[in-house]
Amino acid sequence: MLYSFLTETGFLKKLTQNPSLENETKIQNLAKFFNIVRDFELVAQEDRVISFVNYLNLLIEAGDDPPTVEADLDCDAVNVLTIHKAKGLEFRVVFLVSLVEGRFPWPHRRQPIELPDVLIKELLPTGDFHIQEERRLFYVGMTRAKEELYFTSASDYGGRRLRRISQFVLEAQGEVVKELEKRKSSALETIERFAPKKESPQPQITGIPESKLIALSYYHIDDYLTCPLKYKYVNILRVPIMEHHTVIYGRAMHTAVTKYFQFKMAGKNMSVADLLNTFKESFDPQGFLSELHQQERFRIGCEALIKFFNEEEKRNSKPVYIEKEFSFILGNNKITGRFDRIDMEPDGAVIMDFKTSEIKTQKEADKRAKESLQLVLYALAYKNVFGQLPICVELYFLESGIIGTNQIREAGLEKVKDKINEVSRGIRDRNFAATPTYMACQYCAYSQICPFAIIRA
Ligand code: SF4
Repeated sequence: MLYSFLTETGFLKKLTQNPSLENETKIQNLAKFFNIVRDFELVAQEDRVISFVNYLNLLIEAGDDPPTVEADLDCDAVNVLTIHKAKGLEFRVVFLVSLVEGRFPWPHRRQPIELPDVLIKELLPTGDFHIQEERRLFYVGMTRAKEELYFTSASDYGGRRLRRISQFVLEAQGEVVKELEKRKSSALETIERFAPKKESPQPQITGIPESKLIALSYYHIDDYLTCPLKYKYVNILRVPIMEHHTVIYGRAMHTAVTKYFQFKMAGKNMSVADLLNTFKESFDPQGFLSELHQQERFRIGCEALIKFFNEEEKRNSKPVYIEKEFSFILGNNKITGRFDRIDMEPDGAVIMDFKTSEIKTQKEADKRAKESLQLVLYALAYKNVFGQLPICVELYFLESGIIGTNQIREAGLEKVKDKINEVSRGIRDRNFAATPTYMACQYCAYSQICPFAIIRA
């Protein structure tokens, strides 16, 4: 409903057609909101708006900030973060603000129901536990700075009493800090607080520095090569989309087949009924054109899996890896991904990727395997992780049971390295200009909202 609302009112389109940092942030906020809705759907007993609003309120009470996305740390702007959110990050200059008693440390509020000491497993520290925790946070805040660290505080925060500088500042600075002269704001200064805000300059988005690794998977590379704007929609803005039925179907098939092989690897047998049940459980009945279409896809999936089961039982092969994750460094890029399946033959490894696209002949399957950039990338990954090339790479078309094969030589790896460098360069330079073609736009999930889409009238 939310997706229909955003697309049918033209709201998403309006945001994408007027690109600005503000609109991009709005799209990212919407994407975050979609994730919250989806998470709720997964656990909610009562999938209704009123329950969802209660859930949102609980999130806010628990300290979450549902409507806002995380700061884009590559953006050349001031990042305003809580100390908890800044954990693990570093900045050239850090300002710790509001360093006064009553704000840092924050006053201790007792829990409405305290946890009895006997139920706490770890050793309880002696002394004021709350102050110790706040001091730890203060230390975390201080150590976020690489070059410069500023402590700031004011005496007057608008209340009746003047504030004292935080005890943590005094502890950190030793004798250097003396309590500054306390001074109440003048009437004029108080009025000044209500002056209209000055326009601040728009933050500039700079390129990604060469020293920073870019994480790339095959899907990132494919998105960028298809159309850099599509890459931006998918991976940076995360523009919400209605999942295409082929993706839902493919994922359910993939889950069932993976589970079958995981059983095999563990030396267990999976019955055909269990295989179909796994498919059924993963088959999300959304995004299909009609109920009939959904039933038809489900039937085709079941038939394909029964055929797959019979073939595999006859073949009785046992993979050495299923869903094996990989990652390796190539220049200033971190390439990540997952091998669907790896078999070990006497003369080397065979890498296999499962596909659900319709392929009817061996010739067609081999052609797809020969043209597949994904398989070359997997051969490169295998070489980087295991030190040698696989003897062959394959596409297993699950619906027909046909396997397309290709052999990758050392020279063939150069092509994929060039592609990786091309994509990495574009992302580093933040070049996300659209490269629309009829084919790309036809299959692009963003064609309804993209201002550059080429679609047949
Ligand atoms: S609709 Fe076409 S131009 Fe727009 S993002 Fe998709 S592929 Fe690129």
